[in-house]
Parts: sequence; C-alpha cells; structure tokens
Amino acid sequence: MKPDKSRRGFIRDALKGLSVAALVPQLYSIVPAHSPASRSLLSTKLVQPKIGFAIHGGAGTILKSEMSAEREREYRAKLTEALMTGYNILKKGGAGLDAVEATIRMMEDSPLFNAGKGAVFTNAGTNELDASIMDGSTLKAGAVASLKHIKNPISLARLVMEKSRHVMMVGEGAETFAKQQGIELVPQSYFYTESRWKALQREKALEEKNNKAPKEKKPERQHATFIDHAYGTVGAVALDQAGNIAAGTSTGGMTNKKWGRVGDSPIIGAGTYANNLTCGVSATGDGEYFIRLAVAHDLSNMLEYKGLSLKEAADAVIEKVGKLGGGGGLIAIDKAGNIAMSFNTAGMYRGRIGANEQPIIEIYKD
Ligand code: ASP
Repeated sequence: MKPDKSRRGFIRDALKGLSVAALVPQLYSIVPAHSPASRSLLSTKLVQPKIGFAIHGGAGTILKSEMSAEREREYRAKLTEALMTGYNILKKGGAGLDAVEATIRMMEDSPLFNAGKGAVFTNAGTNELDASIMDGSTLKAGAVASLKHIKNPISLARLVMEKSRHVMMVGEGAETFAKQQGIELVPQSYFYTESRWKALQREKALEEKNNKAPKEKKPERQHATFIDHAYGTVGAVALDQAGNIAAGTSTGGMTNKKWGRVGDSPIIGAGTYANNLTCGVSATGDGEYFIRLAVAHDLSNMLEYKGLSLKEAADAVIEKVGKLGGGGGLIAIDKAGNIAMSFNTAGMYRGRIGANEQPIIEIYKD
C-alpha cells in the first residue's frame, strides 16, 4: 500500500530534527540482531553507522635502528591481519565484543606478542597469563589472572563475564572454571619461546648486577629494564554498528615477575574499560603505574565529567603516567568513532581503521 500524503507528512515530522546518529539505534531496533545481512544492507544502503576498530601489540623501546626489515615486515603483517579480522566482523554488522575477542585470540596465538603463545617468563621460569574484556553497553566485565594452562585467556575472560556471576577469577580456580566450560587447556611447554627465555636470563643477570651495585648506584625502579624486554601485551577497542563499545587486553605480564605478581591488564578500570556513554580503552606498559592511576577509568571519567575530547583525555592520562615515573601507552575509541593512541615510549605496535577507511599500521613514534 502506498503511503498517503498525510501519513508521509506524519513520518517526516516524526523524523525531523533527529540526527543520523539518533536514527541508527532506532533503525537497528527494527532490524533483527540475528540478521547480520539485513544490518549490513541497512548500513550500506540507508545510513553509514560509524564503526571503528583499533589494536595495540605493546609499547616500549621499539627503535627502528634496532629492528630488522624482516622482523618489521612480520609485525606489520600480523598487525594488519589482526586488525582486519576484527574490522570485517564489525563491517558485517557483528558485535564489538566478537571483534575484540577474535582479534586478541589471533594475537595470542602468535609468538610475536607477549600474550598467549608468546608470553614472557616469570622469575620461577613459568608463564602466567592475565586478560580482561568489557562490554560498554552493559558495563559487564570479565577478567582472569595468573593462568598457567589457558591457550586463549581472552576467551576465558569473556566466559567469566557471560557464564558466571563474577568479574574476576585467578589461578587454579579460574582453570577449574575453564575446564567446566570446555575451554582448551595446554601444558606450560606450549608457551616456551627461545627469545622470551633468553630475555628472562638477561633480566636475571641484570637484576643480580643491580643488587650487587653500591646503594647510591642502584636504579630507582626494580624493573627499570622491563620496557626493553617485555613489550608485546595486546589489546583491542571497538565501536560496532549498533553503537556498542567493547575493549579487551591480554598479556603475559612482566619478564621476571615474582610472587604471583599481577599487572594492570586484567584490572578493570586500569588496563581495560568500556562504556557506551564515553569510550573503550586498552592500555599497555608499566602495569603498577597504570593500576595506581586507574588509567582506563580515569580516561573515561575525563570524557564523562570534564567533557574533554578523546585525544586530550588520552594524552592527559599518559602524561600523568609519565610524571609518576611509568612508561607505556593506550588505545581508545569513543562513541563517535574517534580513535586515540597515546604513548610516552619510543614506540607502540598499533593499528586503526574507521568505516570505509584504509588500515593504518604504525610502530614508531612518528
Ligand atoms: N601492562 C602489562 C603488565 O604490567 C605489561 C605490558 O603492557 O607490557 O602486566
């Protein structure tokens, strides 16, 4: 039936004054969530909802002068593959959480990063993994820490969020939960990589030297060298077609860490945060400093209470980390699809892509 003139007028009046951004969620509410094809049609034919996706593969002293061309190619290829995996999920109308999880799983399976397969070694010669994920539409979150046998910690973090009434699980308890959920467990030997093992030996030798040094020559921070040897934590932030923001982070932590040390990556509000009203954040760097400043939540608060732009807030919070003595960086995405990538180190493995944009992969400061 052709709409008559008065009905057309009614629809026009009802929609008048509504911005495209306000229209998208309304249109989505009438297109079923289980029909990504219709949603994709909606996005390409009617309106272009803003989507965006960003990833990091750790911050640290990454100098071009010390990187071979082949190594750089390897990193760029893996970062591109990971970035496009998440982006393609978003482009088809998939959920931000799915994009974040799929991308981080891929990075966890690569020995290039300090997460999953490529996790660094603890002082005891073991590998202990941490991860977290957050859904900005519900403020639900899941986190896991000190895992020894979980191939993909990010997926276990998501199960904690979706299949338990808790937010954080650690160690053996978390692994018992994993078994109940049918998650793949692997022996510790799965995480062995020669380069990470050698990094542990270097770190221990340096620590011994520092311990023997006279008091006035001792470095201020016990982990002064961490940035040189432990970069590679991974993270992703996403804004999906429905306007939902998600964020996730996964790490092996810090080379030579002791006594069950846990960093910022699995701490909601420190290493990871997501809120549809503000932004999604994933951090990397000296975890102790990121915990003390509740970096990810602080950034979100600056948007919520101070009305700063994403870039201003990201730069401000990283400046605070630096002032306190910490090194590192973060990636963030806001509800309008803006992406910020701030760091105070020589480099940060990172990638970003917006709706219908080309992927951008960067490693060094400039
Ligand atoms: N933030 C991580 C931690 O402290 C390490 C890193 O990002 O490289 O565990």
